[in-house]
Amino acid sequence: MTASVPAHILLVDDQPANLLALEAILGDLGVNLVRAESGEEALKRLLEADFAAILLDVRMPGLGGFEVAHLVRARPRSRATPIVFITAEEPPAATVVEAYRLGAVDFLVKPLVPAVVRGKVAAFADLYREKERARAESEHFRLLVQGTTDYAIFMLDPEGRVATWNAGAERLKGYAATDIVGRHFSRFYPPEDIARGWPDEELRRAVAEGRFEDEGWRVRKDGTRFWANVVITALRDARGELRGFSKVTRDLTERRNREEELRRLNNDLERRVEERTAELRDKESALREANRRKDEFLATLAHELRNPLAPIRNGLAVLKLRPAPEAAARVVDMMDRQLGQLVHLVDDLLDVSRVSSGKVVLRPERLDLREVVGATVEAGRPAVEAHRHTLVVHLPDAPVWVDGDRTRLVQVLTNLLNNAAKYTPDGGRIVLTAVTEGGHAVVRVADTGLGIPADMLPKVFEAFTQVDRSLDRAQGGLGLGLALVKQLVVMHGGAVWAESPGADRGSTFRVRLPLAEDAVAR
Ligand code: ADP
Repeated sequence: MTASVPAHILLVDDQPANLLALEAILGDLGVNLVRAESGEEALKRLLEADFAAILLDVRMPGLGGFEVAHLVRARPRSRATPIVFITAEEPPAATVVEAYRLGAVDFLVKPLVPAVVRGKVAAFADLYREKERARAESEHFRLLVQGTTDYAIFMLDPEGRVATWNAGAERLKGYAATDIVGRHFSRFYPPEDIARGWPDEELRRAVAEGRFEDEGWRVRKDGTRFWANVVITALRDARGELRGFSKVTRDLTERRNREEELRRLNNDLERRVEERTAELRDKESALREANRRKDEFLATLAHELRNPLAPIRNGLAVLKLRPAPEAAARVVDMMDRQLGQLVHLVDDLLDVSRVSSGKVVLRPERLDLREVVGATVEAGRPAVEAHRHTLVVHLPDAPVWVDGDRTRLVQVLTNLLNNAAKYTPDGGRIVLTAVTEGGHAVVRVADTGLGIPADMLPKVFEAFTQVDRSLDRAQGGLGLGLALVKQLVVMHGGAVWAESPGADRGSTFRVRLPLAEDAVAR
């Protein structure tokens, strides 16, 4: 680079012999000598190139040396070019003052001393080359910064006013240099950051630490925001005096959006894993609960099966003693009841397991539900009478047609009626009602008994559920009856609910069945 910067020296003299002498002295200095034989020609040459120095004869016909110097200084391009005047004799003091006023840097008096002339010209040439190099370097640097479009690179004065602006800054922030240079940089920040004094705080930290890096929202000229990485560096001169700040800003909006998206996906995933874990936990506890109920059921089953066995065995022992006929008849009655109990239990068990495994097939026929209720009343009568309950039955005048399995429907309603009798203290009241309600047949079994706590209402239909196990259960019971009821009703396309206002305030069971289709149309 050093060698490639040429240094031109302009030699101005009206005497060709003098020019020749100068050329001889300077010929091998490695500078480029340009000659001019008049002041006018010198000015022409000055238009064509920049010179490292001008060696200028003072006395010339036409434009004199001082006039030429005056014009050289007047032109911006040559304002700083060093001028060395060459005079025939030592100039008077007034002339020297005048010459310096015109910007002369030196005087050489003829006869010239070659070594002195060479030394001076070489020094000017070096100085010139040095300046050119620095100028080119800063020009490159300026172009580099100016032309960078991916980064906003700009400078602030010590008060925070924008001092320079590059293409990247214009692209990123939307301001042209003319809009923004001289304005305070706080306008790049969102109002909430301005309110907490953040822009000035950033400068304070950059001053304190030399450099400060930040990430946050910044505002474009049109008011939109972008996510920025910002590096602020305090700029100090050789004496350590703060001269301003450089700011380099990058737009990271896209990266931030990607990160946000990732974070969102991650949260979503975590949430789904949590949900799934909770689901599994619920399932596990449901399984554990079912298992617990099954254990309880086995214990109850063993107990309930044994209950009737003891009296039957006793009865046998009594019969072996051949008692009197009336006594024998009472024992046989008792044994019959207990056996009935046992058979009933085993039937229920078999039914539940067959319904659960889909082995029960309904044999539907067109039925008048009033007739089914009648059969139920017959079947339930012994239990109702045993407890001295009052049974009231309300039936509509017209038939209530349903398509169903008669035996199974009687079984459903009998289970409900027997429960009502069983779970109502003696001398209670049971009301059995059948009605037609908007395309459905509804049978209601209401009692004045123990009632069911609200939290147990949805559970009583699960197998092996019993509200109060401590209850004296002379009637037996495994918590299977209502499970069976629900399964059979659902098989008929219907539904069943339990309602109770609370303990000791009675219960109402409601069975809803679809009316036979053509019966609805009628
Ligand atoms: P079980 O009668 O053999 O115990 P069920 O399945 O018929 O079994 O009934 C389940 C439980 O529901 C009973 O143990 C009882 O606690 C409760 N229950 C059923 N019907 C009534 C009713 N009418 N009044 C009060 N509680 C009832």
